[in-house]
Amino acid sequence: MSRVYNFSAGPSMLPLEVLEKAQKEFVCYGTSGMSVMEMSHRSKDFEEILYHAENTLRELMKIPENYKVLFLQGGGSTQFAMIPMNLMNKNHKADYVKTGQWASKAAQEAQRYGKVNIVASSEDTTFNQIPELDSSKFDADADYFYITLNNTIYGTRYTTLPETGKVPLVGDMSSSILSEEIDITRFGLLYAGAQKNLGPAGVTVVIIREDLLGNAMEFTPTMLRYDIHAKNNSLYNTPPTYGIYFAGLVFDWVKQQGGVKAVQKINEQKAAILYDFLDNSNLFQGTVVKKDRSLMNVPFVLPTEELNKKFIAEAESKGFVNLKGHRTVGGMRASIYNAMPMEGVKALVALMEQFERENK
Ligand SMILES: *Cc1c(COP(=O)(O)O)cnc(C)c1O
Repeated sequence: MSRVYNFSAGPSMLPLEVLEKAQKEFVCYGTSGMSVMEMSHRSKDFEEILYHAENTLRELMKIPENYKVLFLQGGGSTQFAMIPMNLMNKNHKADYVKTGQWASKAAQEAQRYGKVNIVASSEDTTFNQIPELDSSKFDADADYFYITLNNTIYGTRYTTLPETGKVPLVGDMSSSILSEEIDITRFGLLYAGAQKNLGPAGVTVVIIREDLLGNAMEFTPTMLRYDIHAKNNSLYNTPPTYGIYFAGLVFDWVKQQGGVKAVQKINEQKAAILYDFLDNSNLFQGTVVKKDRSLMNVPFVLPTEELNKKFIAEAESKGFVNLKGHRTVGGMRASIYNAMPMEGVKALVALMEQFERENK
């Protein structure tokens, strides 16, 4: 069977070259005589894999020296708890912007550990935009200010970051890491689960400014303390070794594409092809306010539920899979992460054009 165009929101498509490289090395890695999966995490081979991954990511994202890069487990969702446990430690309060389900879940979890102030929300318009931020509502004494940079379900993204002064900005970039350039120095902490843009599920990357380490709440489990993982270079216990290896291959791939800036350019072109079609279509319609459109997740609808279903079924029969939108938005969603080739987006638009001709 041949590979399909997979528009899944996550786990999602991975670069074919990377899958093939991993396949080649699957049974025997280098001169080790074993698979990466069979290696001790304390072995020299694995240490090299870990440091190579970290250093390549540092280079790609221009991560300054005073930030630690951690490879953890527990997915993006564990960060919803780790962040307050480790950072809500001075005034026991934090500002959150509610831009979708992931932001809401993060805020809800943080409420268990301190006071959460919802600075703004776009819930009243089904999260179809990033809400206007009024800095007079920001709490100058907040321990941190939390945003979700790209909202996977609703297809929105921040194009400008909030000015939070001395309050550390914390960002969930699970569905946008390495898709566009970002100024790390604007953040106290950034994190991303791997399964959207970095590799298989099972590893979570955390980038944290060093001065934020070491103040975890007393009851914080050892495994949920950033300082413990930082001190041990992500080797406090057995890290997700294969996931780290695979993410390292994806980092190499991004570098081969010309780095984040080059990848961003391609992502902008890919997204523009889809959005231009949606803007000119008499049948398909985008659901997001133009200024806040995501480069990674593109939700759209047809005029009736019947047509949505028909389109999804037709697409699937032609090798375009996982286009069904999230149940809270309905319709369709095309997730076009870094690994989705330009030709996949062009082929999708050609399919939509054909569908429009046949169903007007
Ligand atoms: C997928 C996703 C999450 C949750 O990740 P898990 O690894 O499933 O816990 C969190 N935030 C964003 C923006 C996501 O896209």
